[in-house]
Amino acid sequence: MICTIAPPLLSHCTDFSITNTARPTPHGTVDRHMRSTSHSLYRLEEHRSATRHSKSTEQRFRHVIGRQKRAMQKEFSAVIIERVETWVLRVPFIRTSADFDGAHHELIGATVHADGVSGLGYSFITDHAGGVAVKALLDELLVPRLIGRDATKAEQIWFEFEALTHRMGTGINRFAMASIDIALWDLRAKVNGRSLAAEIGQIHESVPAYGSGKAGNRLSLSELVELSEGYISEGFTAVKLRVGENLRNDPDRVSAVRRALGDDVGIMIDANERLSYSEALSLGRRLEEFDPLWFEEPMPYMHREAHVRLAQHLAIPVVGGEHHCSAEGFVDYVTSGAFSVLQPNVCMVGGITEMVRIMKLAELHGVGFAPHLMTDLNVHLAATTNSTIYVEYFPWMEPYTENRLTIDEGRALVPEGPGHGIQFTSAAFEQYRVA
Ligand SMILES: [Mg+2]
Repeated sequence: MICTIAPPLLSHCTDFSITNTARPTPHGTVDRHMRSTSHSLYRLEEHRSATRHSKSTEQRFRHVIGRQKRAMQKEFSAVIIERVETWVLRVPFIRTSADFDGAHHELIGATVHADGVSGLGYSFITDHAGGVAVKALLDELLVPRLIGRDATKAEQIWFEFEALTHRMGTGINRFAMASIDIALWDLRAKVNGRSLAAEIGQIHESVPAYGSGKAGNRLSLSELVELSEGYISEGFTAVKLRVGENLRNDPDRVSAVRRALGDDVGIMIDANERLSYSEALSLGRRLEEFDPLWFEEPMPYMHREAHVRLAQHLAIPVVGGEHHCSAEGFVDYVTSGAFSVLQPNVCMVGGITEMVRIMKLAELHGVGFAPHLMTDLNVHLAATTNSTIYVEYFPWMEPYTENRLTIDEGRALVPEGPGHGIQFTSAAFEQYRVA
């Protein structure tokens, strides 16, 4: 008999076909048919793993599941997701910035296994121990819906998960979606035997990178100059300085770095949302003479109209976006002239799929793209658009990963191996895994 995949009927099955839904037709029902079939496969696997069976019944389950997978692979050319591991690493932040001593990052990861290939995705939260909440959302809601799905359908799955979690707004759901989405893009690139950049649509072999993360407000003036010079000796042509904690001293600090590095080096300033409009206007006017490339996050990001006014009154380009959680959130900031450069964080917005939409927004409106942190991922993204101005070189994950990004004369080289190339060390898992 032909069995429609209902686990209790397993004992009566002699054949396990994929006839549990209408046959596909050429106009769109294929995906629906496949989703239905995938869900049945998931239910069968769930029943097998959740219930104790005799050895012969277990063998029967495995046989039937195997046949089902092979049938799906043949009919849909699918790469079937078999297993997803989720985890949280709580790692120390690097100390050289001084502003963040004692801080931690939480990395919330998903490793997706399909047909002998695995994809790695992760998102991060700074210092608030919210990682377990993201992991719970993954484990309870999203991961169960992945088992049996085609791993190459990253965009389709992203929009399904967006619809599924829409009532949560754009927040914790975007971190969970990012972990899945990045893993699926990594996996698809590996299946296709090419880098993540090539999978997205690579234009450039390398992208400009600026030194960041060693220029905190709390460094002494001599430390600030010394660390900034260190970036230049490493080949970088631009560095970012933090401002905004002591407005009276900021012009002297920027001036000292400008004198030490010379006029040909790019200097960005970042206030990390610390200032009011009047403070930002005053500081910006006093810093204009040092010719900064941009003034980043002068004020809290949600004050869009204040950013528009500041951009109109300063000669320095106003930029931001690391706290935006969706592509839609950038639209008003682009069309109103609030930002000259968009700085989305790939984990904050929900992954590669959403970053591609933001890059297109930047391209179509003639604004720059300089993604926030996450250099190892961003180098792939930034290589796929002509809007890229810089990637932020801030290697805070280096102590915990096997891979190292190559910087050559101030440019980050796009890794050529399959996928994104990022792998966390086993030591990091042993030492820092908290969930
Ligand atoms: Mg910033």
